[in-house]
Amino acid sequence: MLETDDLIDLEISAGEELARLEAEQQTDASSREAVSPDKAIGRLSRLDAMQMQEVAKEAGRQREMRIHRLREALRKMDLGEYGLCTACGDWIELERLKARPEILQCGRCVIE
Ligand SMILES: [Zn+2]
Repeated sequence: MLETDDLIDLEISAGEELARLEAEQQTDASSREAVSPDKAIGRLSRLDAMQMQEVAKEAGRQREMRIHRLREALRKMDLGEYGLCTACGDWIELERLKARPEILQCGRCVIE
């Protein structure tokens, strides 16, 4: 069971992380618009540019996933359903939640 103090801490860190990721996503979107594909290549070879684009796309995908999960975590906090493992229904270890507030499963259910 989560203590109120811990829950407040987690809500703050989830909210801050979400705001940070959303800001990052915003910056990313505007910098992509600012540089046209032709100019972006510059000194890099076309292959390098394509690889970098793939890496950036993947990072964007990961970030979108985390944003989605953080929103879900905050919603669960509002509902009072936060901190329960989606696999076994047991409480998720506090240390895990502190490391990644959006985590959905306890250490016994997820092998990382
Ligand atoms: Zn579990």
